[in-house]
Amino acid sequence: MPMLSKDRNGERNVTLELTGVSHAYVGVRGARLALEGLNLAVGTGEFVSLVGPSGCGKTTVLSLLAGLFPPSRGRVLLSGQPVRGPSARIGYMLQQDYLFPWRTIRDNVLIGFDIAGNRNAGASEAADALLAELGLPDAGGRYPHELSGGMRQRAALARTLIAGPDVLLLDEPFSALDMTIKLQLEDLVWETLRKLGKTAVLVTHDLAEAAAMSERVVVLVADPGTIADVVDVPAELRRLKPTEARKAQGFNALFDRLWKRIGRDGGGAEEGGGVGDGEVPQE
Ligand code: ADP
Ligand code: MG
Repeated sequence: MPMLSKDRNGERNVTLELTGVSHAYVGVRGARLALEGLNLAVGTGEFVSLVGPSGCGKTTVLSLLAGLFPPSRGRVLLSGQPVRGPSARIGYMLQQDYLFPWRTIRDNVLIGFDIAGNRNAGASEAADALLAELGLPDAGGRYPHELSGGMRQRAALARTLIAGPDVLLLDEPFSALDMTIKLQLEDLVWETLRKLGKTAVLVTHDLAEAAAMSERVVVLVADPGTIADVVDVPAELRRLKPTEARKAQGFNALFDRLWKRIGRDGGGAEEGGGVGDGEVPQE
């Protein structure tokens, strides 16, 4: 059975669904089982995070959801339909912004339309308006090297959003940023996706980020990648934007719960000790 938690409104439609999904990467030295027996359903408009140690299959889950390749076994569904390849309904945002240095920010935002050959009149204005909404009112005519890392990630978010996807897949989009910029962007992304009613799956190895941004946190363990736990974020924290949630009552308890889950099953951390900055132990 797909796991949709009970305290959420039961009527919520399911947008993403993984059923009995296993995936093996096959190479010259044999096969490696990256995921085994995953069941997960993400409701429409829901924000779910995937956490777990390096190599536990987080990026593989996003690649399957994005339709980059099919799973070895099991089903991947988008609004009840099998995912058969990349779709404009799904946007993908990565740690690296992959902005092309020779294109202006505006032309980077619009690159998907240029590749498809369907940039229309008004596209430039739409790009500039979206950039302004994301806090980059004067960036359209500038080049990537003129922007800071945080500004570049805003531009990358604009590029992802301009195609109007229903679903956003976010693979560690903040992990290369300074802490203050990262906190600002967490709020911006959270507010933007919420306002637009997007469904989101965030991969992060930062447990505090997962706790602050999402409605549910899926804890994965490695070898092979399986779901160890699905933790519901308490309703009073879900309502708050990430920087507020981090300061709210109940946040530390949630963080501890995630930490213990990871520590016990994932990276060998000691219970209650050495919480550090909330990074999942890396191998
Ligand atoms: P995570 O994102 O959690 O770090 P990945 O999904 O990238 O994990 O990888 C899961 C496992 O699959 C790891 O053991 C990794 O080495 C392996 N893997 C990932 N991509 C490939 C690939 N293209 N070919 C072979 N093995 C891969
Ligand atoms: Mg990864």
